[in-house]
Amino acid sequence: MNYKEANSKSNTFLIIAMILFVGSLLIQQWILQMICLVGGLVLIVVAIVLRVKYSKCPHCKKKLPLGFRSEPDKCPHCKELIIKSENR
Ligand SMILES: [Zn+2]
Repeated sequence: MNYKEANSKSNTFLIIAMILFVGSLLIQQWILQMICLVGGLVLIVVAIVLRVKYSKCPHCKKKLPLGFRSEPDKCPHCKELIIKSENR
């Protein structure tokens, strides 16, 4: 998994987490509310871990800026392209 894939997975997890949180407000049964809240929290943690773990330049191994929906194509440190081939 590369930087871009990790970021898009992380975004997906965050969106699902938001849906779970909204869902927990609409659900009447407390047990289902708890499941939604805990599930949402777990997804947020996984999303953050993914982002932190994979947000490194593959060339100079320096950390890349953590931003949502703003994945740079070039490393700000060594100016190397992070993502070489976009089309598969
Ligand atoms: Zn770099």
